[in-house]
Amino acid sequence: MLLIQEVGELAVRAAEREGADSEPYPAATVRELFDSGLIRAPFPELEGGSGWNCLDATNAIEILASRSPSAALIAAMPVGIAGVVAGSSPVVPAASRAGWDKQAASIAADFRDGKHYAACNSEAGAGGSLAATKTIASKTSSGWRLTGPKILASGGTHADVFLSTAKVSQEDMPGAGIVEFFFVPTDAPGVTVASDWDGFGMRSTESQSVYYEDARASGIWGFPDFIAIAQPLSYFFCLFAAIPLGCATGLLELMSTPAPASPALRLRLADARMKCEALSAYLSETAGAWRPAAGPEYAARVLRTKTYVSSEATKLCAELFALSGGRHYRRDGAAARLLADSFAGTALRPPLALSLDTLVEQFES
Ligand SMILES: Cc1cc2nc3c(=O)[nH]c(=O)nc-3n(C[C@H](O)[C@H](O)[C@H](O)COP(=O)(O)OP(=O)(O)OC[C@H]3O[C@@H](n4cnc5c(N)ncnc54)[C@H](O)[C@@H]3O)c2cc1C
Repeated sequence: MLLIQEVGELAVRAAEREGADSEPYPAATVRELFDSGLIRAPFPELEGGSGWNCLDATNAIEILASRSPSAALIAAMPVGIAGVVAGSSPVVPAASRAGWDKQAASIAADFRDGKHYAACNSEAGAGGSLAATKTIASKTSSGWRLTGPKILASGGTHADVFLSTAKVSQEDMPGAGIVEFFFVPTDAPGVTVASDWDGFGMRSTESQSVYYEDARASGIWGFPDFIAIAQPLSYFFCLFAAIPLGCATGLLELMSTPAPASPALRLRLADARMKCEALSAYLSETAGAWRPAAGPEYAARVLRTKTYVSSEATKLCAELFALSGGRHYRRDGAAARLLADSFAGTALRPPLALSLDTLVEQFES
C-alpha cells in the first residue's frame, strides 16, 4: 500500500539520480517506481495496488514531475493503463464482461510482476488525431497483426508491452471504433524500435520511433469501440497535464530555496505560487470527477483543463526561468531541465494546436 505522502521521497531519489546523470534511461528509478507500488497503485489492494483514484494518480504524477519530469512521463503511461483498467469495470458491456475480467486480472498480475506497459500511439503527421492513424490491424488465423509507423514511444526498448492504436475493418471486428487499442509485446516478431530519440527536453525518456511490420499483437484492450464507449483518454489527459504543472512547482521550489532577499523577487514568486495553486485546484477538480464513460461534457472539460494547465504552466516555467539568474543558467542544470521538460506538456496528446482547434469547434457548436 503506497500513500501519496510517500511519493515525495521517491521523487527526491529520482531527482538525485537524474542530477548525477540526466541523459540515460532512468532504469533504477523506474525499477523503484515498480517496487514501491506506484506504477500499480490505481489497482485495488486485492490486486496488489493501493486503490488510487484518478485524483490520487494525478497528484502523484505532479509530485514526481516537480523533481523528475522524465520519470513522471514514463510513469504516466502505465499508471494511466492501471487506472483505466481498475476504473472501467462499471461500463463494460455484458457481452464482454467475462473477457474484460480475465484481461483485467492478467494485466494486474503483469503489473505485480513488474512488466512495463508503455504507450506507442502517436504517428508523425497525424497531428495527435486518432482519426488520422495509419497503422492497420488485421485478423489472421494466428491472431492480430499490426503494420505501420509510430513515433515518440516513451520507454523505447525498455518497455515490455506497447499499447498501440490501429485501424480495424468492420469485417475483422464488427462494431470496431475509429481505432482500437492493441497490446503488442515489444519482443514480438515484426516490432522494430529505432534509436532516434533526441528530444528538446525529457531527455532520458527514450521516446523512440517504432515500426510495425506484421507485428504480432496479443489482443485488443477491452472490447470493440473501447475508446468511444469507456472514454479512457480523459484519464491520461489528467496525468499529462500534471507533468508541466509539476515542472512549474519544481522550478518555483528551486527558486524559493533559499528564500531570495529581493522583495521584488519574493513578490514574483508569491504570484507564481498563487498561479500554481490555482492550476492545481483546477486540475484536481477535473481529475476528481473522472469516471468511465463520463460523456461529452466531461470530455470537453478535460480538454479545457489539459490545454489551460499545460500552456499556463509552461508559460510560468519560462517566466520563472527568466527570473532565475546566472546561478541556474546551465544547459543541464535542474532549472533548465524543468524548463525544457515543461514544453512536452503542450506536445502531449492532444497537442496544443489540435486542442485549440477542437475548443473552437466546440465553442461554435
Ligand atoms: C517527450 C514526449 C514524449 C511522448 N511520449 C509519447 C508516448 O509515450 N506515446 C505516444 O503515443 N506518444 C507520445 N508522445 C506524442 C504526443 O502524445 C503527441 O501525439 C505528439 O507529440 C503529437 O505531435 P505530432 O508530432 O504527431 O504532430 P504533427 O503531426 O507533426 O503536427 C504538428 C503540429 O501541428 C498540429 N496539427 C497537425 N495537423 C493538424 C490538424 N489537422 N488539425 C489541427 N492541428 C494539426 C498538431 O497538433 C501539432 O501541434 C510524446 C511526445 C513528447 C514530446
